[in-house]
Amino acid sequence: MTTYPVGGAAEALKIDGIHKSFGHIEVLKGISLTARDHDVISIIGSSGSGKSTFLRCINLLERPSLGSIRVRGEELALTSHRHGGLKAANGKQLARLRSRLAMVFQSFNLWPHLSVLENVIEAPISVLRVPRKEAIERADATLAKVGMYERRSYYPSHLSGGQQQRAAIARALAMNPDVLLFDEPTSALDPELVGEVLKVMRALADEGRTMLVVTHEIAFARDVSTEVMYLREGLLEEQGKPEDILLNPRSEHLQKFLARTR
Ligand code: ADP
Ligand code: MG
Repeated sequence: MTTYPVGGAAEALKIDGIHKSFGHIEVLKGISLTARDHDVISIIGSSGSGKSTFLRCINLLERPSLGSIRVRGEELALTSHRHGGLKAANGKQLARLRSRLAMVFQSFNLWPHLSVLENVIEAPISVLRVPRKEAIERADATLAKVGMYERRSYYPSHLSGGQQQRAAIARALAMNPDVLLFDEPTSALDPELVGEVLKVMRALADEGRTMLVVTHEIAFARDVSTEVMYLREGLLEEQGKPEDILLNPRSEHLQKFLARTR
């Protein structure tokens, strides 16, 4: 049985005051976020508002200029990088914390030379040191869950975009992460394939997975999120419950943004 501290579910991820500049341009101007277990936080905003950069800073795919990152209460030690920004002070800690956060990209990013099954078992074997037989058993169960078991021996190039993205989600789940990070997971898909990926993501939310989802799918954000964050020009302009943010937005910019997505 899981016990939660008084006041709700345990903190899975806490991000404080992330700033990020590219050259002289500051694209993130202090973004903070707390995800508790079972939270589904949708991040919306116009193209160029900094959503991807923010997600990438969380697992240090991008070096933040300033800010702090805490996973399951453990703060990531950061130090200055000689080319500017912050880097992990300790590679082992970074690898450990990264393995608790799994990312799903817009462009799937599956290994093209590996089958679906091989894609899914690669990190559990090489990073978590799970024995191969056990990794395969777990992968098969996960692939069944995303409806990809029958295609486990296919190579990515022989799959539709929707199938590739479901395989990528299985690969992320195989690490049993504390938080799943999604960066516009359906934006690269043909319209008729969007539904099958959203259906898998809804199922993950229903089973209580903690998720951070950058998305343009407003209906998904409305139905599935516990919280919505609206980013504009590198700042968090409005955040709150989906019914408040999406149905009664206060910000004029958000009102216009939502009108455009309809
Ligand atoms: P979003 O995901 O919301 O569309 P991004 O995070 O991709 O926005 O980009 C935010 C801003 O940062 C944009 O102005 C973009 O041009 C800029 N940017 C992103 N990545 C880089 C980079 N590697 N070098 C320079 N500028 C970048
Ligand atoms: Mg983006």
